[in-house]
Amino acid sequence: MAEIICMGELLVDFVPTTTGVDLAAADLFKKAAGGAPANVAVGLARLGVPSAFMGKVGEDGFGHFLADTLAQAGVDITPLRFTAAARTALAFVSLRADGDREFLFYRNPSADMMFAPDDVDEAAIAGARLLHFGSISLIGEPSRSATLQAVALARQYGKRISYDPNLRLALWPDETAARTSLRLGLQQADIVKISAEEIQFLTGLDDPVAGARALWHDRLVLMAVTCGAQGCIWLTPDAAGEVAGFPVAAVDATGAGDAFMAGLLAGVRDHDAAALTPAALDRICRFANATGAITTTARGAIPSLPDRPAVHAFLTA
Ligand code: ADP
Repeated sequence: MAEIICMGELLVDFVPTTTGVDLAAADLFKKAAGGAPANVAVGLARLGVPSAFMGKVGEDGFGHFLADTLAQAGVDITPLRFTAAARTALAFVSLRADGDREFLFYRNPSADMMFAPDDVDEAAIAGARLLHFGSISLIGEPSRSATLQAVALARQYGKRISYDPNLRLALWPDETAARTSLRLGLQQADIVKISAEEIQFLTGLDDPVAGARALWHDRLVLMAVTCGAQGCIWLTPDAAGEVAGFPVAAVDATGAGDAFMAGLLAGVRDHDAAALTPAALDRICRFANATGAITTTARGAIPSLPDRPAVHAFLTA
């Protein structure tokens, strides 16, 4: 039985085979499984944490490709649903010469956004220890209601809930809708991973610690603020600490946040709230920083997520 259920976005990423080109100029693409919660599920499986993915794909070639990719990576796909009523979500993503990412989405609406309350796998939630979700499935119905229902069930069963807002502003109708839903997501969770930019977007505050405190609520036991190459900041109800990142030759940051999330969840799984001491959190965040850093040293998300021996080797090198 999976310990951690990751829920939400699952899509095929098409990435130009040559980097530094605009999408319109690319003629060859490589396909890869993507979607932040799916990456986290694979990251966890690689770290030896039994994980499952809950969501929806189309009854089409891309849907089966995604299901096979997750299953081959060791993720339990029992809670994954197929539908003939919508196509699998697709994204075309290029890392342009100026370093910015260019996205083009097929979401019309896509199968992952059709994940409905009836699709929620209550038995999987009841058997797990933690439910992890992101904000993309909060954009529209029925996936918004399904996500909130799964979260409510997890709470009812006394499970932990973790959240990564993973803001992709282009997918939202407007900034206000994004802010409202991101805050709603935050309020559901006891563990949150959020980037310094997302904190700035939500609070207008440039200081991540002040911003994190402005977002704080009673249910939260841990917030981890990611700061790219600089590492991260952890916050508990009454303490905070900074953990430096690792200097690496980064080639592609795709999936670093998801790798970090997997490292963080793998680290906290054996700690109840009282055991999340500053010393424990420094250790856990060092592990998560290493997991994120390693992922930046190779292209793509899923192919570059490290397994546990790789993280240990990196930390002891
Ligand atoms: P996100 O914005 O998606 O949360 P980040 O880009 O901040 O993700 O990366 C998540 C984590 O991965 C960081 O907190 C850090 O630990 C690690 N990381 C990211 N980029 C680098 C880098 N260039 N060098 C070293 N570590 C990195």
